[in-house]
Formats: sequence, structure tokens, C-alpha cells
Amino acid sequence: MENVRIEEVQSSTKKQRIATHTHIKGLGLEANGTAMNWAAGFVGQTQAREAAGLVVDMIRQKKMAGRALLLAGPPGTGKTALALGISQELGSKVPFRPMVGSEVYSSEVKKTEVLMENFRRAIGLRIKENKEVTELSPEETESVTGGYGKSISHVIIGLKTVKGTRQLKLDPTIYDALIKEKVAVGDVIYIESNSGAVKRVGRCDAFATEFDLEAEEYVPLPKGEVHKKKEIVQDVTLHDLDAANARPQGGQDILSLMGQMMKPRKTEITDKLRQEINKVVNRYIDEGVAELVPGVLFIDEVHMLDMECFSYLNRALESSLSPIVIFATNRGICNVRGTDMTSPHGIPVDLLDRLVIIQTKIYGQDEMIKILAIRAQVEELVVDEESLAYLGVIGQRTSLRHAVQLLSPASIVAKMNGRDNICKADLEEVISLYLDAKSSARLLQERQEKYIS
Ligand code: ATP
Repeated sequence: MENVRIEEVQSSTKKQRIATHTHIKGLGLEANGTAMNWAAGFVGQTQAREAAGLVVDMIRQKKMAGRALLLAGPPGTGKTALALGISQELGSKVPFRPMVGSEVYSSEVKKTEVLMENFRRAIGLRIKENKEVTELSPEETESVTGGYGKSISHVIIGLKTVKGTRQLKLDPTIYDALIKEKVAVGDVIYIESNSGAVKRVGRCDAFATEFDLEAEEYVPLPKGEVHKKKEIVQDVTLHDLDAANARPQGGQDILSLMGQMMKPRKTEITDKLRQEINKVVNRYIDEGVAELVPGVLFIDEVHMLDMECFSYLNRALESSLSPIVIFATNRGICNVRGTDMTSPHGIPVDLLDRLVIIQTKIYGQDEMIKILAIRAQVEELVVDEESLAYLGVIGQRTSLRHAVQLLSPASIVAKMNGRDNICKADLEEVISLYLDAKSSARLLQERQEKYIS
């Protein structure tokens, strides 16, 4: 039982939520801010894209501090796509964290805790480090006799083989390790002490069944060692640092903070820990070692949040460690959850006051067809024009999302019919099998008495 490891099960829903938007590469705007009709994977929705472009400019000029963006529009009008586009315009390494309002309700975790974690997942930190690295080119590997420092308590042995470099952390019994790794004559190996102070690179040239480092059969290569200063850039989020240091071991320097990331486990992240992390992070920002990269936190179905969440959000937006928050809603005037107070989009007026609101509009048939064609291409599906047009009609009648979702089952049906390309008959077959949300609702209404209510 000793070897059984219990690990956190990672949810894949977030990845799937983004996976359908992989074709979105930005907002597709010209230098003067006007939206190209089809660019960066984006089709139509030009007004909203231009408005989003202005918001990107405001973010860059730090004029969005304390404020947030609300995307308001019917389902399937590209709100998620717009939020992703904004984050991409801000930079390729900018974190994008999507969540749904209802995620805050869990039996185990407090609502504000869920919000806080998502906030911290949307704040990036770029850590720059100048590291001296030893590089070795194959032609420089030449045999010279030598040894290694006896004071080494811990070594890393790397094996450079035809397949690439492997690194292993081992205890001082290098002999055993090398035998275990089946180091062969001619392999290039290097040994590095824990602190990085002792480095040896060499080619194993004289052992078959036995290899004795004490006897210095191992050969270091002073000639081949090239020391270079290299800037190493690492991108992490504040949440990565929280999770990694939930049970701190080692020091508080940036490398120990990063080192902890290699050992993921589920532990409680306390407020105290977050404050400690903030302190270290702020110090590194002040010293210029790290740079803050505020990302985008996208909260869909914002009407699912209640007063407690809204007041938390009001406060969180004021913090200097805040991501760009983008809300989305398809609701008009409705109750603020848990109260009998009505408000536009179910958002209390004091938060509404801080919002820049962008409207998204329903797509026309041609736009839907174009979007469907893009998705088909991304998913490597061949769909003829007639079928695309048909799918466009379906999209108009149901929703864009439903039409997009029909592509995968249709491709399976096509394969079963012995074809690689999707044709109209495949779509008809799939449509006869599945209900879209609107038809399902209609059916329920018609046959209400047959269902348990
Ligand atoms: P919303 O958040 O408003 O419901 P969404 O962005 O989640 O909309 P979906 O309904 O999931 O959009 O749309 C289905 C597919 O269409 C997704 O792959 C989405 O990226 C894509 N899509 C939506 N709008 C556009 C657009 N204007 N240009 C290109 N692709 C789009």
C-alpha cells in the first residue's frame, strides 16, 4: 500500500470550454481599431469587437483599474469568444480563466473562496532569472581524465542519448545509478551538485559491466564546457504559487517557491499563506525580478452570483493585485439572486456603475455559415457547401452552439457510411437523433403531463 498515491482529479471541463474557441486568435482589428469582417478567426460582431478593442487600449493605459467589463447578449453570440480575444490581444502569455457564476456554490468551499481562487488563477507572474548554464556541443566532447568533488551530497545525472537529454536526481551512489541507467560506452553524461557549484560533463569511455567513479574512470570535459548567462523566463499564476506552497518546505526565495510547483497535491490554501505569497511576490516585483501579468477572469452567467459575491467582487476589483474581470449575461432585468431587488442583468447598481457594457448581437445566416466553416476546418472535417448552408439554417432555427455541436456526431455518421466528408444526409440523420434546447423545451411543454414534475 505504501506506493499508492492519491492525487487530485483534475477537471477537464475548463479545457473543453476553451477547446471550442481555439480558432479565436485575437479581435481581428485594423491598426486604426476598425474590425475586419473576418480576421483572427473572428466573423462579424464588428461593433462589439471594436468596442472590445477600445477596452484593450484602456487596459494597456491602466484606465480600467477598479472597473470591469460586461458582455450582454443572447446565448451563442460570441461572448466567450470576445473575452478570449481580449486576453489574446493583451499578450500570448496572459492567463485566461473562464468560470460560470454557479461554480461558486459548493458544499465544501465558501463562495468567496471560490472567487478568490479564480482571481488568483487569472493573475500571472513572469519571473526572470539570470542563470549560468553549461552548454556542450557534441564536437566538443573530448575525453580528459578527471573526477568529481567528494563533498557532493546530492547529484543530478543527465544522460545525453540519441533521444535527447534525461535528468535524474540521485543520491551519492552514482555508481549504482549509472549501472541502473545502463550507461553505455560513448554516452555523454554530466553531473551537477545540488547547489550547481560542481559540474562535470563527459563521455563514458571505459566501462561495460562496471563503472567506478572513485577510480576516476569517468571523464570530465573542461574544454567542452561553455558557460553562458541565459535569461530564463517562467510564467506562473498566483494560484500556482499558493497551491505549491500550501505546505511550505524550504526557503522563501523565488526558486524555492517555484520548486514547490513540481509536487502538486491537494492542501488547504489559507488567507495567511496568500498574504505571505503576496509579500514575497511584491518584494520580487519591487526588486525587478518578477513582473505582474494581470490576466482575464471571465465570469459567465453573472446573474447566478448573490450579494455576498458581488460585495466581494466590489472589493477585489479595488485591489492592486486584480485581473481584468469580464462578466457575461444573457439576462435582462431580473432579481439579484437571493433578494427581491430587481436590477439590470441581476447585477446590483453599485457594481453596475463600475462596468463598461458591450452588447453582442445575434448572427445572420451567412455569418453562422462562415463560423461553422471555420470550426469544421479546425476540427479537420470536410463539409460540402450544401451541408454548411443547411447547418446554417439549423443554426438560425436553434442556436449557433447547437449547429457547431452537430459537426462531431455527423462526422461519426459519415465514417459509418464509409465516407470522410460530411454530407447533408449525415446531418439529417444526426438531427433526427438529437434535440436542440428549444425543441426540447417545446416538447416538454406539449407533453408536460408525462414527465415527473
Ligand atoms: P456566448 O458566450 O455568447 O454564449 P460563445 O462565445 O460561447 O457565445 P458559442 O455559442 O459557444 O459561443 O459559439 C459556438 C462556436 O462559435 C464557438 O466555437 C465560438 O468560438 C464560435 N463563435 C462565436 N462567435 C463567433 C464569431 N463572431 N466569430 C467566430 N467564431 C465565433
